[in-house]
Amino acid sequence: MTSVVTQAPERKTSQAADFDVLVIGAGFSGLYQLLCLRDRLGLSVQVLEAGAGVGGTWYWNRYPGARCDSESHSYCYSFSDELMREWEWSERYPGPAEILRYLNHVADRFDLKRDIRFNTRVSGSHYDETANLWRVSTDAGDVLTAQFLITAVGCLSSANIPNIAGLDTFEGRWYHTGQWPHEGVDFSGKRVGLIGTGSTGIQAAPVIAETAAHLTVFQRTANYSVPARNAPLTPEFRRYVKEHTGEIRRVMHSTVNGHPWPVADRLALETSPEERQALYEKAWETGGLRFRATFRDLVTDKAANDTAAAFIRNKIREIVKDPATAAKLSDFDHPYAAKRPPIDTDYFETFNRDNVALVDVRAEPIDRITPRGIRTRDVEYPLDIIVFATGFDGMTGSLLRMNIRGRDGLSLAKAWAAGPCNYLGLQVAGFPNLFMVTGPGSPSVLCNMPVAIEQHVNWITDCIAHMRMNGLKRIEPKDEAMDSWVAQVNAAANATLLPQAKHSWYLGANVPGKPRVFMPYAGGMAHYRKICADVAARNYEGFALSA
Ligand SMILES: Cc1cc2nc3c(=O)[nH]c(=O)nc-3n(C[C@H](O)[C@H](O)[C@H](O)COP(=O)(O)OP(=O)(O)OC[C@H]3O[C@@H](n4cnc5c(N)ncnc54)[C@H](O)[C@@H]3O)c2cc1C
Repeated sequence: MTSVVTQAPERKTSQAADFDVLVIGAGFSGLYQLLCLRDRLGLSVQVLEAGAGVGGTWYWNRYPGARCDSESHSYCYSFSDELMREWEWSERYPGPAEILRYLNHVADRFDLKRDIRFNTRVSGSHYDETANLWRVSTDAGDVLTAQFLITAVGCLSSANIPNIAGLDTFEGRWYHTGQWPHEGVDFSGKRVGLIGTGSTGIQAAPVIAETAAHLTVFQRTANYSVPARNAPLTPEFRRYVKEHTGEIRRVMHSTVNGHPWPVADRLALETSPEERQALYEKAWETGGLRFRATFRDLVTDKAANDTAAAFIRNKIREIVKDPATAAKLSDFDHPYAAKRPPIDTDYFETFNRDNVALVDVRAEPIDRITPRGIRTRDVEYPLDIIVFATGFDGMTGSLLRMNIRGRDGLSLAKAWAAGPCNYLGLQVAGFPNLFMVTGPGSPSVLCNMPVAIEQHVNWITDCIAHMRMNGLKRIEPKDEAMDSWVAQVNAAANATLLPQAKHSWYLGANVPGKPRVFMPYAGGMAHYRKICADVAARNYEGFALSA
């Protein structure tokens, strides 16, 4: 069940290059891209990965409380029925250890590791027009060449550590959740400061609070969160998944966000207040991202969204005993789900513990980090450990850190100085034969990502197969196709409430100096899939292909 062209594997490397394809990154994207190109098209492929193992996000993010928010039976590959049937998830939302076991299983099952070079960070990638090759340099000083370069570097893989004065003077330990030590961190008896209340901070706070002597949560943005209701999967549910792989995949491929449930076809504002309340209550009890699918106008109509916001605000006030803390936790400055919607296990309940305090840094800004802790405008909070749950230089960070240069030395950083522009989130004019898996301008982070990743990898694989079958050597988008796509990405975002979250990393607002551009494609995964398929069917309309 895949759209990928299948050919008898026959290893052939073009004369001048070390490999047909270089792939950067060995997470969900890089592993599947390797499998498709090597085993289905018979190309020579080398994957370069900075980490010491496969797994990407789950290799790096091992902080306490880390879990995926997608449900396990959909947070996996769907290209192989056998793989779907043979793998057993233990919980509704697995943590890093289990996801890493899964990705290692995939890598071993398909014998992928022999073509991955670990502990290898790509530091430069230059296109050589005369030879029609990409020259990729690594931090070890090696240079490798290939006709095609595919970035599978992840949307959330460049840790964002805020530039707070005095960090270098701090006498305790500090950590970023996205670069968590593999041996773990012992919080027992420690005074911990946690900066950030996005999905990660919301996952980490309850777990850190269990062992720390004291936890201070520094909140800039009050965040909506819905209970995850994590639990072991029942034998009945596991059986259901195995017996319905095709149906589950069909739903995932037909919905806006790639999750295995449809968005309800009803409007919040056309539902009576009593029924609406009952539906929200039911969704709250069910838990997880399904809450967002209660009504189809929640992310497009502010008045509809306000009903969800009011419901969550009331829940927070019911749960959190101290009214002042509850007020800070529910003082939202953006519509529900306009930022990545977190789901949690006892996040709001954590603020009822005696050893947990909340600091609202909008009212009491952080002034600096001192040798002893964090000083706000008003107080110094003594700390032994600071945890930065401050997210990532999302979507473009890892791409721009690789010093990618296309034709005539044009740097990607320069081409994207005003924000990322590309065609379909896949390719940039001036950078021939460079493909980006889940690049900005594609649904990526607005989607259950394995669905977005498989769609991109299949499309890229089909495209390369098409080129080889037709003797084509070079592909890049036309300027007008790129301009039109950027306009479509902007229009899709503006048709939703998402750009209203002014501090959102979707907009690049968490990184000083980053252009404020809404980066992912918000027009829906199913619609995007069709656009890409139509482009390919019309002989790669909008791309310039040459022999
Ligand atoms: C805490 C957290 C929770 C998440 N939860 C969910 C969820 O519930 N559902 C969901 O759909 N998505 C979730 N995501 C998004 C997640 O990133 C994707 O689901 C998925 O793992 C992305 O896979 P990937 O292979 O594209 O990228 P990644 O997993 O990020 O892998 C990219 C790899 O590229 C490597 N790399 C980057 N730059 C270089 C370089 N210069 N040289 C060499 N190697 C490089 C990195 O080391 C990394 O291993 C979450 C992300 C985070 C951070």
